[in-house]
Amino acid sequence: MTKIQVLPEILANKIAAGEIVERPASVVKELLENSIDAGSHAIHVTVLSGGKRLITVRDDGEGMTQDDAILAFEHHATSKLQNAEDLGAIATLGFRGEALPSIASISRLNLKTRPAENADAAGTEIEIQGGVLRSVKPVAWDHGTEITVRDLFFNVPARRKFLRSNDTELGHIARLVTHYALAHPENRFTLESEGRILIDALAVTMLGERVYQIFGDGFLDNLVAISGQAGSLKVYGFCSRPHEQRTNPYSQFFYVNRRMVRDKVIMSAIRQAYRNCIPASAYPVVILFVELPFNEVDVNAHPAKTEIRFRDQSAVHNLVLEAIERSIVQSASIPAYEHRSAAEAPAENLQPSSSGPAWTADAPLHRESTFDFTPPAASPNPFQRALNYPFREIPATAFPPRREDHFSLRLSPDMLLGSPLESARAFQSESVRILGQLQESYIIACDSQGLLIIDQHVAHERILYEKLATAMRTSIVESQGLVVPISLELPPHQIALLERVEPELKRNGFQLEHFGGTSVLIRSVPAIAHDSDCRKLLSEILEGLEIEERTLDLERIRDRIAVGTACRAAIKVNMPLTMEKMQWLIDQLSLTRIPTNCPHGRPILLRFTMYEIERNFGRI
Ligand code: ADP
Ligand code: MG
Repeated sequence: MTKIQVLPEILANKIAAGEIVERPASVVKELLENSIDAGSHAIHVTVLSGGKRLITVRDDGEGMTQDDAILAFEHHATSKLQNAEDLGAIATLGFRGEALPSIASISRLNLKTRPAENADAAGTEIEIQGGVLRSVKPVAWDHGTEITVRDLFFNVPARRKFLRSNDTELGHIARLVTHYALAHPENRFTLESEGRILIDALAVTMLGERVYQIFGDGFLDNLVAISGQAGSLKVYGFCSRPHEQRTNPYSQFFYVNRRMVRDKVIMSAIRQAYRNCIPASAYPVVILFVELPFNEVDVNAHPAKTEIRFRDQSAVHNLVLEAIERSIVQSASIPAYEHRSAAEAPAENLQPSSSGPAWTADAPLHRESTFDFTPPAASPNPFQRALNYPFREIPATAFPPRREDHFSLRLSPDMLLGSPLESARAFQSESVRILGQLQESYIIACDSQGLLIIDQHVAHERILYEKLATAMRTSIVESQGLVVPISLELPPHQIALLERVEPELKRNGFQLEHFGGTSVLIRSVPAIAHDSDCRKLLSEILEGLEIEERTLDLERIRDRIAVGTACRAAIKVNMPLTMEKMQWLIDQLSLTRIPTNCPHGRPILLRFTMYEIERNFGRI
């Protein structure tokens, strides 16, 4: 007897299911993708018990004949690929022909379908339990397809054990539907759970309109349009202004040819774009579409199809980086004074588990951004809290009022390109009048919009940082010798790092000597920092470099040196400033690329608008 045997088909499907179906949301993903591929206009998802008991996806797409419907449950059966060449340029979301047999092998599945094109064809109903075909019969059915998946993992107890609470699983499903709803504003998406409508996004033509439907008004206010093109490669979407920061990546939505993806190339470009305007630990909101010819991207990298490989990674990286940087620079705006209270803190422990997929969309989306004496009310709805997501129950007929200014963004990239980005600068120094200094730390000023408070240290830090960064790229940074060289003891691992980055430190004004061992002699430093604590300066730069050690390239090394030097050299708080010096700071700040945030991401300016002032005085 041979020891090797071919696995029975049911077992093979169960194994494949392990890779495709991790949780109820994975089933929703596969079914939604099939409905979108079938050219549907309206897709309705119904779930019970977080999808564990029941998931139904109903669409009005092209449907299937009886023969096709039976074939659809065969392993590797697909209508989306004909031959090997097709695999190199996949235009559909599905192509592996594995989802339906996999899902059917680990649930009780019911399918009803009728082809749209043939009005005479009968509808078909198929029942499958744990991969075993139970019945095929005709059914009276409108066109389109409905698939119901009951009792997921009923025959895989090991998997069932790993499912989380109903609310957590529902949260994953809601984020999944949100993901695809954002990618296809031209379709209507509904999500219903236990008889309640959680998402009802009617078909619209603009991406901005869809964002508004799903997240509400406040969300869009803090976003700016992204657009860029290099040959056949296009990027478009929205990203957040620097002051809008999140503690997790759940508000990031990436699509490649409208497929939702998790991709390191895109993520690293975004991190780089925001590096010097938000803290390293914060995440921006990004809704990003990358479009390129189908043969420029390999989508067959993983059974769940969310991982992809770009043929030209650096082209994608550079275009995403450039486009987002451009949007950030043109969009930097001054945040309104915000009443930060301890009541906001508990939001942290509502975050979903870190084991959740990285593509989920979440985070507190509506933050009260006005000056308000009443503490923010806790969400009255425990269900919403569990989702950590401000879904509003929108009756199908109540379409949100149009806000024309938000809807200038058409989904089609061709229509998008060339759309004017917001170009209003955060503030113009000519219109700013300085009133004085507060606590020898903050500059108080006013302009036509209201009152401004400027943190003098971070303002100067931003000015110096940009000057240094430019000097590093275009010329040699001026160095100044120390009258008495300073010695510094470094831990051994930092000595190794120092050797690696020393040539660049030298080019940027540092002259160092070390004689083996762990001590280093600082002979000169960048001229702008010569008054500062040079020991702290060098060790902070090395600490900054250490954090990024594994991914250090020339750009990052320079950046760390510039950030560290600017921080040390900048005027401190608790330092009296003359009117002239304050005016100089404001003038210089208004010339920087991002006058609103320091290189560590902290805000530089706060604004009390006239509206807030008048409202709080009870005038309006
Ligand atoms: P894939 O999507 O990779 O082709 P699936 O197992 O998900 O594989 O689906 C198998 C086939 O069943 C699809 O290729 C498609 O022809 C058909 N099909 C699945 N869902 C639908 C649907 N909602 N509407 C029409 N056809 C569908
Ligand atoms: Mg599929």
